[in-house]
Amino acid sequence: MLEVTPITEEKLGFHSFQISRKTLNSIKRMGFEKPTEIQKKAIPIVLEGKDLVAQAQTGTGKTAAFGIPIVEKVNPKGRKIQALVLVPTRELAIQVTKEIKDIGREKRIFALAVYGGKSIKHQIDFLKKGKDVVIVGTPGRIKDLIERKVLDLSNVKTFVLDEADRMLDMGFIEDIEFIFSQTPVEKQTLLFSATIPKAILRLAEKFLKDNYEVIRIKPEEVTVDRIRQKAYRVDSGKEFDILTEILEENEGRKSIIFTETKKGADDLSKKLRNKGFNADAIHGDYSQAKREKVLRDFRRNRIDILVATDVAARGLDIKGVDVVYNYSLPRDVESYVHRIGRTGRAGKEGLAISIISTLEDRLFSIIKRRTKANIELINLSDKPVETLERRSFSKDGQRKRRFLR
Ligand code: ADP
Ligand code: MG
Repeated sequence: MLEVTPITEEKLGFHSFQISRKTLNSIKRMGFEKPTEIQKKAIPIVLEGKDLVAQAQTGTGKTAAFGIPIVEKVNPKGRKIQALVLVPTRELAIQVTKEIKDIGREKRIFALAVYGGKSIKHQIDFLKKGKDVVIVGTPGRIKDLIERKVLDLSNVKTFVLDEADRMLDMGFIEDIEFIFSQTPVEKQTLLFSATIPKAILRLAEKFLKDNYEVIRIKPEEVTVDRIRQKAYRVDSGKEFDILTEILEENEGRKSIIFTETKKGADDLSKKLRNKGFNADAIHGDYSQAKREKVLRDFRRNRIDILVATDVAARGLDIKGVDVVYNYSLPRDVESYVHRIGRTGRAGKEGLAISIISTLEDRLFSIIKRRTKANIELINLSDKPVETLERRSFSKDGQRKRRFLR
């Protein structure tokens, strides 16, 4: 009988890369069946040793896109730091380290997270043991450790800037330049980012070899399509009442609520607790210990509702978030996409609910147009919708606003 060879999972899966059996086993154990778009494109290039700028939306598996090749390249017994990953926040340092450790489980790769807000002495002790071949850290702490002469980067073969756009936003450029100068000239440099503004390309021109590659995964190919999006349009001042109603309907579902400010996050989580909801807040003013505790509680389902600011939540991978709420709309489209990207990760369907006041009509229409998203609008206000606002200039140069229904 003729045997038809179907395209097996093996061919579509991680097996098509030149990676070791051990690493394949570890990946399998993590539950990854096939590579994501960015992984398909980036892994072969990184394995080849080329420099790379890679852009893909949050939640598309960028960590493993550099984590898998790093694990493949490093010598676990090398007793020297061979790969350095810079990340913008402490939480990301912990998260990325964990993922690299998971990928490197069978190869017995030691990786260490270093970041501010935690005892530097402890981190120095670990470094002195010399077991860690991969270091993941925030620029400030890495710089500090270099200056204390406890971090030797002279054997770094791979240098990664993760969430490069975010690191630039946070003003880390000088620290990054300093750290870069402490690594050998001959190395591979990788820039991963959710967006590629001009500043990132300038950075690439400066840091990367001339023949560097660029991969861009178009946003609309990835995230938001998988996410059901709804918006409740309410009169300004009614947001809290509507939010609690919707939260009641969605009781027991793991949720993140985004607010614009730290104070907004604190206030809202307090008000929710007063109403009997199991909520807590996270933002940049909290101590490291408190942030870690809140995140742990949320991950372990001790808290149902996490109220967060953009900065605190950016890049965080929290599994199984059912609903993302925008308590008000973010000021820019990128943030909207990032926020709702917290749900519906890695193939799961998610739900995003925005509470928009009538004052945000214009912002809403911009977000809707730019994301080309199918957002279901539930209008709870009697106020007319400003579906279109045109700005025009009258002859005397005065800007006039015209609202059209
Ligand atoms: P990004 O850095 O692009 O925001 P992450 O690397 O944090 O995304 O990945 C998002 C989530 O998807 C993580 O939980 C990660 O473990 C998971 N993931 C990554 N790659 C795969 C894959 N190939 N299959 C299934 N899950 C994956
Ligand atoms: Mg990431």
